[in-house]
Amino acid sequence: MAYVIPAPRVASVPVKGGQPGAEFPVHRIYCVGRNYVEHAIEMGHSGREAPFFFMKPADAVLPGVEGIPVEMPFPSLTNSLHHEVELVVAIGRGGRDIPAARAMDHVWGYAVGLDMTRRDLQAEMKKQGRPWCIAKGFDASAPIGPIVPAAQAGLGPDTRIELKVNGAARQTSVIGKLIWNIPEVIEHLSAAWELQPGDLIFTGTPEGVAAVVAGDTLSARIDGIGTLDVKLVLRQAQDDRVRG
Ligand code: MN
Repeated sequence: MAYVIPAPRVASVPVKGGQPGAEFPVHRIYCVGRNYVEHAIEMGHSGREAPFFFMKPADAVLPGVEGIPVEMPFPSLTNSLHHEVELVVAIGRGGRDIPAARAMDHVWGYAVGLDMTRRDLQAEMKKQGRPWCIAKGFDASAPIGPIVPAAQAGLGPDTRIELKVNGAARQTSVIGKLIWNIPEVIEHLSAAWELQPGDLIFTGTPEGVAAVVAGDTLSARIDGIGTLDVKLVLRQAQDDRVRG
């Protein structure tokens, strides 16, 4: 057997405190919608509904390094790029129909991530009853910090999650305000898909989402996990047809 074109590379995220070069390979990226009450309300919903899911492609990850801002190209087709800071769960052991009581056995680690969103396109797709992919699953739409092994993370209900833009606070909450907590999310998600090692779950964002522009620096942080700094830069035109 031989591939007829070069095989795609495996997307991966560095592991914090691991061996030098240790990487977590990414299988799929699942995202939970409206999982904090105040964010559901700011998006025009009640904040009380069963969890729902959408996906980003695995290679949408934009891995960051602590202390050095990672450059994110400002995406095409939008005038309203929104930040959503989120706790990311990294699955180390797969399974389906995983009960909440057993769910934590499947968690390998945690990271801080950004579910970057082309909000204007999302609003348009919602209005037309079309899928959100173009709003949520674009290239580099999932900046993510190094993954911390679960035993070293020390998450609790009072763990702070926050996002600053150019040093000013935009989103601030605590993990305990998740409507559906991590075990419950895994129970619901694994009823719909068989989870695999390498799956990432973006668990939803608290209130305070807003637009950013090229030149902005975003600093996402979850206590006990770490900080992810992202610098938004102008996208360079790339057209293979013109370059030949
Ligand atoms: Mn989100």
